[in-house]
Amino acid sequence: MSDKPVRVRFAPSPTGPLHMGGVRTALYNYLFAKKNNGTFLIRIEDTDQTRFVPGAQDYIMDALKWCGIMPTEGPGLGGEYGPYVQSERKEMYQPYAERLVQEDKAYYAFDTAEELELMRERAKQMGMPNWQYNHVTRTSLKNSLTLPQDQVEELLANNTPYVIRMKMPRNRDIRFEDIIRGWVTVNTNNLDDKVLFKSDGMPTYHLANIVDDHLMKISHVIRGEEWLPSAPLHVMLYEAFGWDCPQFAHLPLLLRPDGNGKLSKRDGDRLGFPVFPTDWTTAEGELYSGYREKGYHHQAFINMLAFLGWNPGTHQEIFSLDELCEAFTLDRVSKAGAKFDPDKTKWFQQQYLRSTPNEDLAAQLSEVLENKYDVSRLTTVCHLMKERATFIQDIATEGAYLLERPTSYDEQTVSKKWKEDTSVLMTEWKNNLEGLSTFDHDSVENAFKSFLEAKGMGIGAVLPNFRLLITGTGMGPSMFEIAAFLGKEECLERMNQGLTKIEALKNQA
Ligand code: GLU
Repeated sequence: MSDKPVRVRFAPSPTGPLHMGGVRTALYNYLFAKKNNGTFLIRIEDTDQTRFVPGAQDYIMDALKWCGIMPTEGPGLGGEYGPYVQSERKEMYQPYAERLVQEDKAYYAFDTAEELELMRERAKQMGMPNWQYNHVTRTSLKNSLTLPQDQVEELLANNTPYVIRMKMPRNRDIRFEDIIRGWVTVNTNNLDDKVLFKSDGMPTYHLANIVDDHLMKISHVIRGEEWLPSAPLHVMLYEAFGWDCPQFAHLPLLLRPDGNGKLSKRDGDRLGFPVFPTDWTTAEGELYSGYREKGYHHQAFINMLAFLGWNPGTHQEIFSLDELCEAFTLDRVSKAGAKFDPDKTKWFQQQYLRSTPNEDLAAQLSEVLENKYDVSRLTTVCHLMKERATFIQDIATEGAYLLERPTSYDEQTVSKKWKEDTSVLMTEWKNNLEGLSTFDHDSVENAFKSFLEAKGMGIGAVLPNFRLLITGTGMGPSMFEIAAFLGKEECLERMNQGLTKIEALKNQA
């Protein structure tokens, strides 16, 4: 790596919400910057005003914040290379385009949209469906290369609309080394003369992107594979300006779970999982769901995203953001498309719950439960329930009986396990519990074992009914832990309530 300070950017266009592929690009930029003591900035690329979507920029910033991967320079964040929104830099670009025209590396093109459409149509009729404005066709079109100088000046003086196009040299091999893909070679004969500056006075993505990356001293361009075809033009532009080219790293595509094609915005929800980090509501009121609102913790989401195209080269799969920053290198990013796996995503969330200290989970649970309960009690609730849960919300619903008495009793367990003599048996067991002087996990377990022995009964005939009385459910974590957590008095009261209610149910049946 060169000794230039590492400066990387995430450069989204505010054309809608940030797809998870976009979040992954931001994440890899963030990790790369952290790993190399560099700077991660965000630049909003809004030169295509026709595709501007109100609210998208706020959405992007909010999503990055939720993920915990905020840039340190960007709109609203400060930084010495601003403004960081391209429409606010509008005036800067034209002189660069003009400079290329002056140096014969670009030219004015006056062809109207209709004229170009006609050319395309004609070419199609002649069996050439991919007509391009390029080193061949430009010689017979309306531009400053073909028109006499005075006519060009007149057209400009009359404010005739024009665009500025790149003058691609003929038959030159452009070579650059992509950190992920290795050497890439493209012959300029296969490239068209891209528009750099539009008739509406705005630069195109290509020009603005290069000028800004240069002015913002970007050292590495880390972006999605869909930009790889543009990279040769970008390399040519750096050369044309006489600027150092940043290093490129084009990230592999995110593929649908079946591996069939790119995971697109439209796949969201349709395939049963979100493709956005957070909820997004369109101007028409249509809701696209996000991971945050589905109950994912940002750490699990980030952990999952990191592995879509990268691996640490070890068996470790669970990483905190700090650990990712430490482990991340671009040379472990693969070329092959990364298949998105919704089940694995859930798995990351489960692992997150399992590996997070109960105290931390309790704080989250407390929020879900609107701070109604004592956090130290919630810590035990998390300890008891987290192995069976995927989301914090699951702990709240499935562990509700740990905080409130049951209001119903699982019908299946009642009909299968509650026999004629169960009430008598459970009353006897209750009396045993009442007599205990200490009431913790071990004492309840020991008492239970002695009770079974005395009765000559197996666990299966007694434990499910004990659980039913205390929790209303047929399954769950250790009953002895639950009993110890609730305490003697609460257990006895629940058993009394349960005995009455289940008897009533049985009599109804
Ligand atoms: N504005 C481009 C996008 O929307 C950025 C491409 C790049 O990073 O160069 O993805």
